Amino acid sequence: MHRISIPKGARAVLLNLRYENHEAYVVGGCVRDSLLGKEPKDWDICTSATPDEVKELMHRRGIKTIDTGLQHGTVTVDMGTVGKYEVTTFRIDGNYTDGRHPDYVEFTESIYKDLSRRDFTINAMAYSAEEGLIDPFGGRDDLAAHLVRAVGEPERRFEEDALRILRLYRFAARFGFAIDPATGAAARALGPHLDCVSAERIQEELLKLLAAPRPRSYLEPAVLAVVLPELEPEKQPGRFAELCRTIDRIEPTAENVPTRLAALLCPLGEAGARKALRKLKCSNALTDEVTALVGEGAGSFLLGHESGARPIACGNRVPPQRTVLGETPGTPNTTLTVQVKRLLGRYELPTIQRLTALCSARHPEQTRAFAALRAEAERLTAENACCRVSQLAVNGRDLMAAGVRPGPGLRQVLNALLEAVITGQTPNEKDALLAAAAQFSAS
Ligand code: ATP
Ligand code: MG
Repeated sequence: MHRISIPKGARAVLLNLRYENHEAYVVGGCVRDSLLGKEPKDWDICTSATPDEVKELMHRRGIKTIDTGLQHGTVTVDMGTVGKYEVTTFRIDGNYTDGRHPDYVEFTESIYKDLSRRDFTINAMAYSAEEGLIDPFGGRDDLAAHLVRAVGEPERRFEEDALRILRLYRFAARFGFAIDPATGAAARALGPHLDCVSAERIQEELLKLLAAPRPRSYLEPAVLAVVLPELEPEKQPGRFAELCRTIDRIEPTAENVPTRLAALLCPLGEAGARKALRKLKCSNALTDEVTALVGEGAGSFLLGHESGARPIACGNRVPPQRTVLGETPGTPNTTLTVQVKRLLGRYELPTIQRLTALCSARHPEQTRAFAALRAEAERLTAENACCRVSQLAVNGRDLMAAGVRPGPGLRQVLNALLEAVITGQTPNEKDALLAAAAQFSAS
């Protein structure tokens, strides 16, 4: 028998329920991940006890509960220092007339019925120390075969809740599994049903899909055509395939999910990307970050010779032909330092790290140059180099005390001082800056 090592807090919740003759198991993702030898993110528990029974018996033991999703039968049990656990009553979902929510949720006494409403066989297993693995749909065999397969008849399951179509690719991508042919055929055929799923749910699954190690072969054009029709993945298959290759070249870290999203949205340009992100109801922070990456992502700030290059990060003083790419490796690279300082004046370091990852994935032949830029940004940040007016050794008050008149001219003097510091003409020291300011305001 397979033994799963359940953490202390979850074990205590199970024991409390079982002590009062309720059935209780860990279920879903934690069982799947344990069988795969991976550390589960969280441990979900399911039980035959109703939410009221769960609350009442926990309260009797002095354990706090939180009403998280009573309408779905979920209560969070707070085990203090050993964690919080979601406990959900066994349930069957009523008819889905809208393709997104069950019309009603019905509690049941049967773990088998509860498992049969779950999406994929690998997600439809439960476990308890007393009974071992409950696996009515062959989830363990599918895990061993590296296969994602719908529980029951795929068409019906995708018609009930079209989000499962996106979840199919998300789970397959996460583990690098194959998709059961009948399940895959149903997902492609029913892709258009995703249009009735809320933007928030789609966004969540799409971001998880993009966080997978190598999402490329799981970005199904028939599905993306519904989720992001602007990309025209079916009308422009060549362009779409190239986007997918670019995404796979970006390292799969949590920090790089916006980078991968930007890689996907690059053909839409800044305005188009922003519109698409708004439609997906992405947070303002994610929308701004991805839009900035799309805007800068062509790498034109470095590839000065590219057509359409914008001198944003180069400023006016650095001739476009003298870019990082033109420098001889090993020589003191003053141009690089100035360029990176200007970038750091506009963006935080994590954005620049994403930007270099994106540019390097889009222009793999320039990977070394982008790596040098990233390293320089990291070095300058570590030594707290002055890249912004706020980092100057003088502020507006100092300048006014030295006789600079308040008003828009003051801002201009500060900007000129920053420029002088960035280009190394003036050290970032109060006396030197005040002397330089006197010159600027006199001229
Ligand atoms: P993760 O580690 O990404 O959280 P997970 O398996 O826990 O993976 P969740 O989205 O948290 O995934 O869902 C928990 C469980 O609930 C799933 O394992 C699955 O059994 C079930 N489930 C979730 N969403 C659906 C759905 N739309 N249709 C059917 N079952 C679902
Ligand atoms: Mg989960």
